[in-house]
Amino acid sequence: MKKILLIYTGGTIGMVKDEKGALVPFKLENILSKIPALENFPMRIDTVSIDKPKDSANFMTQDWQSLGRLINERYQEYFSFVVLHGTDTMAYTASAISFFFQNLKKPIVFTGSQLPIDDLRSDAVKNVMESLTTAMLSEDGKAILSEVVICFGGKVLRANRSTKISSESFQAFDSPNYPVLINFGVGLNIRKTSFFKPNLEEQTIYNDCLMPGVFIVSLHPGWSPQYLEFLIENDDIKVLLMQTYGAGTFISESWFVDLLKSAKQKGKYIINKSQCMHGEVKEGLYAAGADFEDLGMISAQSMTLEAVVAKSMCLLGVKNQKIDFEKAFKTSFSGETD
Ligand code: ASP
Repeated sequence: MKKILLIYTGGTIGMVKDEKGALVPFKLENILSKIPALENFPMRIDTVSIDKPKDSANFMTQDWQSLGRLINERYQEYFSFVVLHGTDTMAYTASAISFFFQNLKKPIVFTGSQLPIDDLRSDAVKNVMESLTTAMLSEDGKAILSEVVICFGGKVLRANRSTKISSESFQAFDSPNYPVLINFGVGLNIRKTSFFKPNLEEQTIYNDCLMPGVFIVSLHPGWSPQYLEFLIENDDIKVLLMQTYGAGTFISESWFVDLLKSAKQKGKYIINKSQCMHGEVKEGLYAAGADFEDLGMISAQSMTLEAVVAKSMCLLGVKNQKIDFEKAFKTSFSGETD
């Protein structure tokens, strides 16, 4: 019988109230006992919990690596994987996992919920059941999905194209610049043409080397030169992830451009990522921002913030930095960009 590994990492889905009334993660058994339908599931479901399930706000890059290693160690044994994770940083973790595995041949499905499973109106059972359904989809005995996805609120989205858009709605995630892969209604609307196509000749490779050192700088009116000077002097910051306006415009005053030049001279990579959720950075469209190339800025194209953060860290982690960071950044590894 085919097997799915269900991994519990924490998040609202399994939370209960502590003595102060604040939500804290609880045991995996609590979740499982609330989903009797698991007994009748047509595949065997094995379960495992990380040592200390946590709020995903406390997920660090080491947690990405532990989770990735857990999946990698059991990769051959399981048909697919479902990860229960807090929604707050789910898109970051899932993006990172999508970069750790190159040429993935089976689905890794992330899900969670907006309300704890103990709540009468909880979305947890629906999300878990739809994630398991997604994880078991097959054709000729092989999984039809070969990528990391987020299954939430009735939609399956490519993980490294997804972002959390609501802390209220049961439709907490969206993939603003990429089509929905599967819609759950009475039937399943499966859009295979948008699925990631792995190279079937090549093996799946796992590599979780990474280096933090990415700092997000969001532009706003009232910016002061000192803000950037401070960041430029900090040698721990290797990538300045600049959240610019609209199609990638930024302050074109000489003081700002000079600061960017000195950041570049200090060896920092500067990534231009629009603050807009929809659309992409268009180099040189406006005079404000026309110095884009001269400054050696790297376009984030239509990538999500979460994917840019995880991808930059993975590229910084490449041993001996024997790569052309800019070229590698622009290459799509796991369908994160066009
Ligand atoms: N704070 C929670 C978490 O991300 C929120 C959730 O799971 O929805 O872990």
